[in-house]
Order: sequence, then structure tokens, then C-alpha cells
Amino acid sequence: MQAAAIAERDGWWCWLCGGAVDPHAPKDSAVRGTVDHLVPRSRGGGNEPGNLRLAHKRCNVQRGSHLPELQWPREWPMLMTVHVWTALARLAPRPGTAEVVALAPLGDLADDAAAWVVERAEAFVPGGWEAWTAPDPAGPVAVWLRRPADAAPGVTGRPKVGDPG
Ligand SMILES: [Zn+2]
Repeated sequence: MQAAAIAERDGWWCWLCGGAVDPHAPKDSAVRGTVDHLVPRSRGGGNEPGNLRLAHKRCNVQRGSHLPELQWPREWPMLMTVHVWTALARLAPRPGTAEVVALAPLGDLADDAAAWVVERAEAFVPGGWEAWTAPDPAGPVAVWLRRPADAAPGVTGRPKVGDPG
């Protein structure tokens, strides 16, 4: 499927940044429309139309083979976050095991982060994820994540070496 065909299907919008894509941008332009894979090929994503999106060349390159839906929101001033995919890869096959996936400076932010990470985990590896926060009067608020002990073991797909946290 060509970028133009995806653009005809979805509109001339970059799915990564939401910006308009100019159909007449020159071939070497950073804002030219390119075909991006929702699930990267390096993670087992295919060329079926449902896995293809239109993206600016620069946004596509910047994203590389990361799963953008698994990146913590950048605007959150977290004290610590683990790499989401790596945490899911550890926890999915081990129901009942919990780990701290983030440290937040405030309880409200920790609550938001707990809701966010459950939603992302469910979208990626469905199956009863739960998160909770553990406030410490002396310090940050931890966000814990696990699948219940009676959940079926899940898998997250292939790991990729060199993923940033
Ligand atoms: Zn873009």
C-alpha cells in the first residue's frame, strides 16, 4: 500500500504528530508523507492495510521501531518510570507478580499514571491488569502494576534490544 493510498483512506494527516501532510511535498522533504507501521515490522507487524498509517518522514524516522502507545506521557514530571514494554514483558507471563512501574511526586499524578498504565497494558496484552498507588508520607508515590494470580499467562511479542526507557 502506497502512502497516497493510505492518505486517501485516512486523510492527509500524520498519525504520529497530528499535523497536515502536504501531498505535493518534494521527495527529500522531512514533511513528506511516508508509510508507517502501527506495530513495527521488527516486532512482528505486517504490511496489511490495518497496520499501516500515514506519517511525516521526520516523525516516522524519529519514532523508529518504538511503540508510541507505550511511551509515558512526556508532560508528566515523574521521578522514575520503567520502560513499559519491558515491564509488560516481565509481568504478563507471571500473574500474581507485581512491580513498581513509576514513582510520582504527587498522589493525583500517581492515580493518573496508574489508570494510564492499566489502559495501555490492557490494549497491548489483554487480561485483567490492575494498578494501585502506595503513598509514602516521606517521599514519592509508587505506582504498582500486576495481573491477578488467577489470570492466564500472557505474552508481549518479541523483545527488541536497545529500546530506551
Ligand atoms: Zn508528523
